[in-house]
Amino acid sequence: MLAVSLRQIGMAANACRFGRRLLQTQAGSASDWQLQTAIAFDIDGVLVKGKRTLDQGRRALAMLNGDNRLNKKIPFVLMTNGGGVSEATKAADISKRLQTEIRADQVVLAHSPMQSLVKQYGDKHVLVVGGIKRRCADIARAYGFTDVSTPNDLVHWQPSLWPFMRPPANDQLSAVPGRDYAMHPFHAVMVFYDSFDFGRDLQVVTDVLRSKDATAGNDFVDRQVVPLFMSNEDLVFSNDYSQPRFGQGAYHVCLRAMWHALTNGAPLEYTRFGKPHQVQYRYSEQLLDRMAMAAVPGIDLASMRAGRCIYAIGDNPAADIAGANGAGWSSVLVRTGVFRGPPGSNDAANPATMVVDHVEDAVSWILETEAKRLDAVGSGLKTKIKARAGSPLCA
Ligand SMILES: [Mg+2]
Repeated sequence: MLAVSLRQIGMAANACRFGRRLLQTQAGSASDWQLQTAIAFDIDGVLVKGKRTLDQGRRALAMLNGDNRLNKKIPFVLMTNGGGVSEATKAADISKRLQTEIRADQVVLAHSPMQSLVKQYGDKHVLVVGGIKRRCADIARAYGFTDVSTPNDLVHWQPSLWPFMRPPANDQLSAVPGRDYAMHPFHAVMVFYDSFDFGRDLQVVTDVLRSKDATAGNDFVDRQVVPLFMSNEDLVFSNDYSQPRFGQGAYHVCLRAMWHALTNGAPLEYTRFGKPHQVQYRYSEQLLDRMAMAAVPGIDLASMRAGRCIYAIGDNPAADIAGANGAGWSSVLVRTGVFRGPPGSNDAANPATMVVDHVEDAVSWILETEAKRLDAVGSGLKTKIKARAGSPLCA
């Protein structure tokens, strides 16, 4: 599989300087860059490594955010399978760490597209799982879910439900203390983020999924009684530890195993969010569409989409690259996270369009590729877009 490092072929000795020079030469077609090119960055393993911020990430984002003589910006979103905080909180944190301005509407968390479930469950009782204390319940409420409970609420109601922890304090509760969960049925279970207590959350979720009449504390049945939604299938993720760590996907594996053991193999059905699932990519495209409409009010969205190339930069082939390839985007795999292949290699199962050492090289390669593409289509861009409507012009 062909995979070439920028360093190997000498395409860009200095990515930042290269990018700035490139933008300076595009004075007459800056709007093409703003409408025809977009980038989706993964965060962990690409821009940061756990608590450590990568210098290449700072330089790459600064360049796209207008750090060039023309002061032109290239649209981008941050698209992570992380979560457990609001989009605004994540944007503020990354802005501070990367020393550039990121808005909340540029952030796609694993659970962001779960806002679409509000239409169906906004006024229904739902169990929200994952994260610290009641934070994910607060996020769910901000999305529009009005009746939210958490595993902490159930353990507080009946401490013997999970006797291996102290009953949670009132400030950790989402629902009003005193609710009788045996009389208050659930309509859905939503895993928003990594479980911080695998054992407790396996117990609580399997209880709710198979409790008679979708309540808690009542008799079990050997079938699934409420729908299950899960936000992120990553088995592992990369932080500042030397080796990848368990992700939310590890909880899914355990949940499926426990479910099958408890129900004699009854099927467990669930709807998946997060990369590589296409719901994330359609959601990101909607955010990019809004940026284009803000830049050019009244723009013909269909024509703009047909000519737009979106690039995903990620470190996890099974999530970032598989999802981008499935969405028809171009994909760039970096070596600063989960992927550890040697120079010249690519992922065998989910090969990326390009493999580079780090995110700064990735942006440099994208800028060079787009310069050639936009030069090629040039002033005939609109005509070609019409002729090839629905067929992306990406190489
Ligand atoms: Mg990553």
